[in-house]
Amino acid sequence: MARLVLKFGGTSVGDVERIKNVARKVKAVFEAGNEVAVVVSAMSGVTDSLVKLVDQISTVKHDDAEYDTVVATGEQVTIGLVALALQQVGLKARSWPSWEIPIRCDDHHAKARITSIETGPIEESFARGEIAVVPGFQAVDSKGRISTLGRGGSDTSAVALAAALKADRCDIYTDVDGVYTTDPRIVEKARKLDRITYEEMLELASLGAKVLHTRSVELAMKYRVPVQVLSSFADVPGTMVVDEEAGVEDVLVSGIAYSRGEAKITLVKVADQPGVAARVFGPLSEAAINVDMIVQNVSEDGKTTDMTFTVGRTDLKRALAVIEGAKKTIGYERVISASDVSKVSVIGVGMRSHAGIAFTMFKALADKGINIQTISTSEIKVSVLIAEEYTELAVRTLHTVYGLDAA
Ligand code: ASP
Ligand code: MG
Repeated sequence: MARLVLKFGGTSVGDVERIKNVARKVKAVFEAGNEVAVVVSAMSGVTDSLVKLVDQISTVKHDDAEYDTVVATGEQVTIGLVALALQQVGLKARSWPSWEIPIRCDDHHAKARITSIETGPIEESFARGEIAVVPGFQAVDSKGRISTLGRGGSDTSAVALAAALKADRCDIYTDVDGVYTTDPRIVEKARKLDRITYEEMLELASLGAKVLHTRSVELAMKYRVPVQVLSSFADVPGTMVVDEEAGVEDVLVSGIAYSRGEAKITLVKVADQPGVAARVFGPLSEAAINVDMIVQNVSEDGKTTDMTFTVGRTDLKRALAVIEGAKKTIGYERVISASDVSKVSVIGVGMRSHAGIAFTMFKALADKGINIQTISTSEIKVSVLIAEEYTELAVRTLHTVYGLDAA
């Protein structure tokens, strides 16, 4: 007997037929002899509509606690409906709003973090042969007020519950059948991965492959919860997200990620002296602008150098304003910016122990005549910035070069 947490996303509970489908899936898992807790999102589109209502009422900045009171209701509907559907197929099931368990969080409304989950009540419910149906996305703060974890947060609820219950696995049912080597919409030969490591998944998630909420992967890694991403519409195994030791396929590169929403800023002729980088990036971080890649050239004359960095495209205007405002303290000749760039990244834990991965990337891009504007690396990732128009060509080329194409 295993203990499992099954999470169903918005599309999986999108209408009554789909909720009945969820009940059938859960019944099969339960009748195979497992203890089962089910975590659900709101029906697809519901959270969006709730957010819209809040925005229509609040023309000035809204109160996040009241926003939470509104948007947390989507999940309350689905826990009840799923519990009813489970009862209809002959199972004992009960819904557990977050305050009844409770699932506790900190006091940062609208972006709260779970701090603890009481497991006693659900354990007792398991012992009575019941299925526990738990809302994703919501928790209660230190004063008992309903809160939410930020959009997409129900994956995180599911992994947190799995960690608290010491579950054997957390299955995330969604509308894709797993994690792919790259975006199947632009590379026909993208392949579903059987396994991927937490670290690789984090890189993929934060680089824009929106399969799992990033925080859920961080939690899974921290508490070593094996996570499976699978489709609720097909009866096939998905992708396991696991520890590196769990024997990941012996490949160097697991996936190619890209993100189009990038912009590049170059400060021409900044002083080559201590403190300059701090004077550039201090004001940006105060303005809550995330800087990604940073490159500083070697200075030719020992006095001045050029500094290039990237920000999200939607932050470009603000970033330029901040840099302009800090011109006196930073000291530079002029600013050049470009917003028609994208970032393409090659990801794989195999990079730790193998040389030559970056070279293969640079050579492949050069052969296609794609100019690399900026490079950054981590232990398991090499990213390049290129002209946006070459994004698809670059991703396809790299997918082939690293042997990721499906047969
Ligand atoms: N219902 C919430 C949202 O749409 C949480 C989730 O689905 O993960 O963001
Ligand atoms: Mg989601």
